[in-house]
Amino acid sequence: MSANKVRLQAISEVESYVPPAITFDIGEEPGEVFGSNVFSVSVMQKRLPKSVYKSVLATIEKSAPLDPLVADAVASAMKDWAMEKGATHYAHVFYPLTGLTAEKHDSFLDPVGDGTAFASFSGKTLIQGEPDASSFPNGGLRNTFEARGYTGWDVMSPAYVLENPNGNTLCIPTIFISMTGEALDHKTPILRSQQAMAIHAERVLRLFGYDNAERVVSYLGPEQEYFLIDRHFFLSRPDLINAGRTLFGAKPPKGQEFDDHYFGAIPERVLAFMMDTERELFKLGIPAKTRHNEVAPGQFELAPMFERANQGSDHQQLTMTTFKAVAKKHGMECLFHEKPFAGVNGSGKHVNFSLGNSELGSLFVPGDNPHDNAQFLVFCAAVIRGVDLYGGLLRASVASASNDHRLGANEAPPAIISIFLGDQLADVFDQIAKGGATHSKEKGTLAIGIDTLPDLTKDPGDRNRTSPFAFTGNRFEFRAPGSNQTVAGPMVVLNTIMAEALDHCATELETAVAGGTDFNDAVQALLATIIADHGKVIFNGNGYSDEWPIEAEQRGLKNLRTTIDALPELISPEAIELASTYGVFSEREMHSRYEIGLEQYILSVSVEANLTLEMGSTIILPAAIRYQTELASNVAALKAAGVEADLSTLQQVSAPVADLKAALATLATAIGHEHAADAMVTATYFRDTVLPAMAAVRTAADTLEGLVADDLWSLPTYQEMLYIL
Ligand code: ADP
Ligand code: MG
Repeated sequence: MSANKVRLQAISEVESYVPPAITFDIGEEPGEVFGSNVFSVSVMQKRLPKSVYKSVLATIEKSAPLDPLVADAVASAMKDWAMEKGATHYAHVFYPLTGLTAEKHDSFLDPVGDGTAFASFSGKTLIQGEPDASSFPNGGLRNTFEARGYTGWDVMSPAYVLENPNGNTLCIPTIFISMTGEALDHKTPILRSQQAMAIHAERVLRLFGYDNAERVVSYLGPEQEYFLIDRHFFLSRPDLINAGRTLFGAKPPKGQEFDDHYFGAIPERVLAFMMDTERELFKLGIPAKTRHNEVAPGQFELAPMFERANQGSDHQQLTMTTFKAVAKKHGMECLFHEKPFAGVNGSGKHVNFSLGNSELGSLFVPGDNPHDNAQFLVFCAAVIRGVDLYGGLLRASVASASNDHRLGANEAPPAIISIFLGDQLADVFDQIAKGGATHSKEKGTLAIGIDTLPDLTKDPGDRNRTSPFAFTGNRFEFRAPGSNQTVAGPMVVLNTIMAEALDHCATELETAVAGGTDFNDAVQALLATIIADHGKVIFNGNGYSDEWPIEAEQRGLKNLRTTIDALPELISPEAIELASTYGVFSEREMHSRYEIGLEQYILSVSVEANLTLEMGSTIILPAAIRYQTELASNVAALKAAGVEADLSTLQQVSAPVADLKAALATLATAIGHEHAADAMVTATYFRDTVLPAMAAVRTAADTLEGLVADDLWSLPTYQEMLYIL
């Protein structure tokens, strides 16, 4: 059997593939589908006694503690509702620091002993669970003898029924903490940081005359990029299965240079997948909104409508799970890795972020009058301060071995955290910086006096796709997060740095006003100082240019190229001070996250290194040697027949074969190196020694891919994976 049989078979399977028929119930209105599997506020209103409903609503809207008696009533209504929807089990769903979603399922049914069972679900089981925490990373937070962790319902994120061919489950979004109350998950710090941010945002709003503003929340709109490839190809690539990315593969003759994919129609099969996922997401109350092709062949994007950060973050995780499952149903695999194919555009997850509430809308929108504009500028200035002071922390929040292939690797965006403001806003801040605290608006000098502020248009204006952090008209877009990462990390940092910056603004303004300074003058002075101190983080130029890293260095901005450079930011004295002042993380929790970051880095590079060694030795080298032997016998046969033999092809193949053997030997030695006790030392070793050893293996192997006879090559090629769908 020729080695490429699997590939050829895969191609013919793809060709004869018929997408599954998606059945929409006749007469089903999209509006009826949306949220149909969610135990939403309106479901609660219908099913709960009035007093109970009111009490839960207070918890949801004002973060009031949930009364245990109320919890019992909610649990009972929730159970009935879920069982009507076919649920047999319930699960506390939580987000451990692996970045994945974890669940512990329990049956509603309690055996009574006489062979019967009755369905029960108490308030206590709704509110609290006790999963065994021993298999989740904790970075030294949990003593080994105390393996218990607790999950607790996040009342602000509604429960939902997840459908599965083998039975439905009631899912309850929860936080996950240790015995001692330390966060073991991604959700707890989101809730803590939202609270901290809200307190100080509301102080600023009070200064602008909103004495009784609704709770300020942070909003999140995550744009998810992903690749789809046929599952037959996926299953014949051990690297994709185990590492999520191709560790080998020569660049295809036709790359993405034509841009024909981005502007082309969405392939029919992909469209069927998208419609199917959207319907599933709708049922779960996830507001999937736009879908389109992305730059690379086989790459797509989904953007949901923005939501409150904690719910948006749950929904983001659920979206990824749904994508994976639905893709399988359509005979495809959904790849979330940040760089599944070398030389082809990678995938990010843009985190669109704003602060606001339903009463005031986004606080990053210029107003209709100078008063509102002054308020808008204070909130923007707070962002500038926060990002300048804690850019390193933002960078650390998106650090992972896989995202290292995007950030700073000549692909959007660079690892330097800077802010793009757009022409209008940059100009306003420029004038504030130059104009000082005057009241006049002469010769183009702008003062923030309420009477003198010019109109700001609400047009977001230009776009700059090379900036990691861009103002886009009513929000900021953080573009550094990777497609496979949880949005929680960046959201927590954003909320926390906003808490600090707004605290600073409120304190400055309160003090000035108390000292008799006119409020407008105080605002003007505050903005001018912030821009003088932190304006260096604003960069409206091309972030991909060769000059930018040099200029950034002169400005004193950090360029943290790799995860190993970025992670120490988590345990810098300033970061620890920030996190503990605003009650988001204790020093121990920060250290645990740092440790887990290193652990995950080592784990993922080590898996890749072992895979590279294995695939190089057992798939690629044998194919190359077979071909080399074939060429050698050809030479021998020609010689025997008295024909002059041309050795050039044999030599051309023999050189990379020798390189491959040598590179594999070096990699094997590198992998065999004993790990240091210090995780930082080990992680650095992986970055500086193991990764380059893997790259050398790949270079030789990819050269061979261009030389070895196609019928001896068993791995699906880039061309096949990216273009045959
Ligand atoms: P673009 O490609 O122009 O960046 P998309 O439509 O792909 O725009 O994505 C925009 C994302 O920003 C959506 O998820 C949207 O819900 C979100 N968004 C819009 N307004 C806000 C806001 N005020 N706060 C947070 N996210 C927002
Ligand atoms: Mg965008």
